[in-house]
Amino acid sequence: MNRRLFFFAAAAFAALLGVGPGVQAAEPMKVSASFSILGDMVKQVGGDRVEVFTFVGPNGDAHVYEPTPADAKELSESKILFINGLGLEGWMTRLEKSSGFKGTVVTASKGITPRKMVEDEKTVTDPHAWQDLANGKIYVANIRDALIAADPGGNATYEANAQRFLDGIAQMETTVKQAIAKLPPERRKIITTHDAFGYFGAAYGMEFIAPEGVSTESEASAKDVAKIITQIKKEKIPAVFLENVTDSRLLNQISKETGAKIGGTLYSDALSPPDGPARTYLDMFRNNIDTIAAALSS
Ligand SMILES: [Zn+2]
Repeated sequence: MNRRLFFFAAAAFAALLGVGPGVQAAEPMKVSASFSILGDMVKQVGGDRVEVFTFVGPNGDAHVYEPTPADAKELSESKILFINGLGLEGWMTRLEKSSGFKGTVVTASKGITPRKMVEDEKTVTDPHAWQDLANGKIYVANIRDALIAADPGGNATYEANAQRFLDGIAQMETTVKQAIAKLPPERRKIITTHDAFGYFGAAYGMEFIAPEGVSTESEASAKDVAKIITQIKKEKIPAVFLENVTDSRLLNQISKETGAKIGGTLYSDALSPPDGPARTYLDMFRNNIDTIAAALSS
């Protein structure tokens, strides 16, 4: 039966019995997600059985965030807190403490193989695992299992929603691989502001180069910028790409100094607002691959 119809019928039945609001089945389970991409994944799997509150919203930077009192209140009422993990949400521990959260913390990236990078002679973990669709499938499975554990009555709904989502991810994997296969190999090189596409590059055979590291916390040094400018000229890298979560000035400057064109905007760490081109996790991939293919194919 259609869920909405079911709820309508259940509510009518409850009204007949004189049962007031708060009937268990009609009340969605409250959960929180740290940032918009993860929030969308939880919504896809949870459907209308869950109400998802997202801390870092569209176009927001999940590396650096100042939680608000409203965030603490939402978290305190949540049964599950979904985080990315891998060091992305440095601000979360403080929020968890201040909210008095008593629910379950679920790390969506649990089980993926973390990507390590050397930055300023230190080994750092790259948190952007969602940019590989194969990892996205692991996120979905973790989300599904956590929702079933917290709300066993929704088992069938969560299983079905997760399966539909996994099928969509598998289709998108084919789309991305086909689009990249059409690009001349020497053009499969991309400049972005920060190192958000390492997993994407490793999964689909592209090289991403960025003046900033895996976090947006520290700015690129003059030396880093000079190095990239030299590399773009030497390797004739055709385009640089802006990101929705970072300032565009640095890349505009690099574009001007090298003659590499601005290839468009990639969605790295956040979705777009609902009226933009990256409203969901899968729309984000669609937008990014279309943007990359358009800029690099000729
Ligand atoms: Zn990032």
